[in-house]
Amino acid sequence: MESDRLGRRVWGLFTPYRTSLVIIGVAVLLSSGLGIITPFLTQAVFDHALFPVGGGGVRIPLLAWLVGGMVAVPVVTALIGVYQTYQTTLLGNRVMADLRSRLFEHLQRMDLAFFTATRTGAIQSRLANDVGGVQSVLSETASSILGNVVTVVAALIAMLLLSWELTLVAVALTPLFVLLQVRVGRVRRKLAGRTQESLSDMTAITQESLSVSGVLLTKVFNRQAYEVGRYRDENARQVDLQVRQAMSGQSFFAVVQTFMGITPALVYLVAGFLIAAGVGVSAGTIVAFTTLQTRLLFPTVNLLRVSLDVQTSLALFGRIFDYLDLRPRIVDAPDARTLDPATVTGRVDLESVWFAYPPAPPLGVVAAPVVAQAADGRGTDGAGTDGTVTWAVRDVSFTVEPGQLAAIVGPSGSGKTTLSYLVPRLYDVNRGRVLIDGRDVRGLTQASVADAVGMVTQDTYLLHATVRDNLRYAKPDATQAEIEEAATAANIHDRILSFAEGYDTVVGERGYRLSGGEKQRLAIARVLLKDPRILILDEATSALDTTSERLVQQALETATRRRTTIAIAHRLSTILGADVILAVDGGRVVERGTHAELLAKGGLYARLYTEQFAGGKVEARCADGVLFTDGATLVGRRTGEPAVPGAGDGGLTA
Ligand code: ATP
Repeated sequence: MESDRLGRRVWGLFTPYRTSLVIIGVAVLLSSGLGIITPFLTQAVFDHALFPVGGGGVRIPLLAWLVGGMVAVPVVTALIGVYQTYQTTLLGNRVMADLRSRLFEHLQRMDLAFFTATRTGAIQSRLANDVGGVQSVLSETASSILGNVVTVVAALIAMLLLSWELTLVAVALTPLFVLLQVRVGRVRRKLAGRTQESLSDMTAITQESLSVSGVLLTKVFNRQAYEVGRYRDENARQVDLQVRQAMSGQSFFAVVQTFMGITPALVYLVAGFLIAAGVGVSAGTIVAFTTLQTRLLFPTVNLLRVSLDVQTSLALFGRIFDYLDLRPRIVDAPDARTLDPATVTGRVDLESVWFAYPPAPPLGVVAAPVVAQAADGRGTDGAGTDGTVTWAVRDVSFTVEPGQLAAIVGPSGSGKTTLSYLVPRLYDVNRGRVLIDGRDVRGLTQASVADAVGMVTQDTYLLHATVRDNLRYAKPDATQAEIEEAATAANIHDRILSFAEGYDTVVGERGYRLSGGEKQRLAIARVLLKDPRILILDEATSALDTTSERLVQQALETATRRRTTIAIAHRLSTILGADVILAVDGGRVVERGTHAELLAKGGLYARLYTEQFAGGKVEARCADGVLFTDGATLVGRRTGEPAVPGAGDGGLTA
């Protein structure tokens, strides 16, 4: 059964802590066992010390011993109780910390596609609300179940020993209670799932609308009222669900509690009949029996409550295991080889590559990974759509020799960024191969590919930390001198020094306290510090003014020196000197060649170029010199030292 499997998995979380469990078990047994002694002492006080059954007056010495025992038992029980609470709290928190770390670690391994298809808030909610929700169960319920079961069982045994007839009266309705409890549990579990869903939505709304970008969006579109309304609605739903969850089973508890409250009276009645019928029941037995019965009330109700909490927490565990069961689409092959950073040359090949993004799941559904399907790639020449598969990349082949600069140009949405994601294996191709140094990236370890490939993405992501820490992210052991060297090369060193706190300036969440150009240059400095053999640039210099762009441009020239670079060019001045320019459209490479060749061809590239530089004179730096163009015509070139000895010059002459 589903809940059995879940139960076994939850139990599995505790298995590393067997010693703690044994200690807790012993403590629970001791304290519960001790609790049962008192009623027997009571029976003895009445029947042997105060009113000895055989007559003969009060026995003071025996009474003193018995009373001494009745004092000692609660004291010892209390001491054991404190130790037991410490052990269970420790155990519960450790198990929960393990679960949280495991979930976080697992999410770190998930592929990019999972994150593009899932709301960040929903992920955060599973880590915070769901794991937090099971904490009480882990730290309290386990020992409380054990303690209560032991108490109930021991009390029942003691009651049976005292009088089986009275015990039958006391437990007559138990099967009915158990049945009711199972039903209430089911309702609880369903409600718990919905409550967590609603909590997840609330976290997502908070995360989306209270982030810097969210606040900006809300303010400029004047949608505060809408956001507040959305939050209020979800909040009201949360109240409703929480109240329903808390109230489900309350009337059931009331019935149980009432019944257990009135059974002592029934016991007296039945005892009366038994005595009348000649069955010997002593006064001490009746007092001891009803004491036991009252002691039973609390643990029984507690047990019922706790078992309902367990149902609730199973729903939460189910949600956590849903995430833990997600298999990342991109994993190291069993025989994956390591790309040696010392010898990697940085040659990149794409061979007949086809790629389609995995379909996104509907809102609110866990983005279950599907294995990338090698659907038939031959199709129409339309906008990348082939039957049900929408190809973002279609039959693309190219080679970038070590140290060369390859540029990808094309209209928006043509697949440029997608192509750049395939090289560091952020996505796996559906057909064809991506090779680094002649080896399929799927046969290399992800870590070594990540070390070899550096990326400067369009959306510069900085951590809420100091400038230094942001740079060190690329190389944790970087010295201050190395950091400054990278920052100088990226044209950002002087700017950093002009900040009041220099390299210790906190950049603000996602770098919001920096300008667009500063952020980009910081990102370039970061990648320079990493010093990868292959560099992928998807910079959006189009958003910058001329001065800023020039600074970024110079930083990029330093960055591309002596390494293989694949640059997605938004401003074509970046790539005039590229060794090869690939013009893509609808996921296909429609033209390839050097700037001069493509201009002469008069196709897509020439059109894009003319649109950007209509009639203007451009002086553009390239890897090995400076190019001069006038409108769409290359009018001159000043060559310096070739950037990479042996690298082709791409045939640029003028
Ligand atoms: P731009 O110049 O505007 O950045 P691009 O050429 O880099 O565009 P891509 O980002 O590669 O274009 O997108 C190629 C196609 O893939 C587009 O049709 C886009 O809608 C689609 N696409 C991009 N990312 C995803 C994704 N995560 N899931 C599904 N489809 C995607």
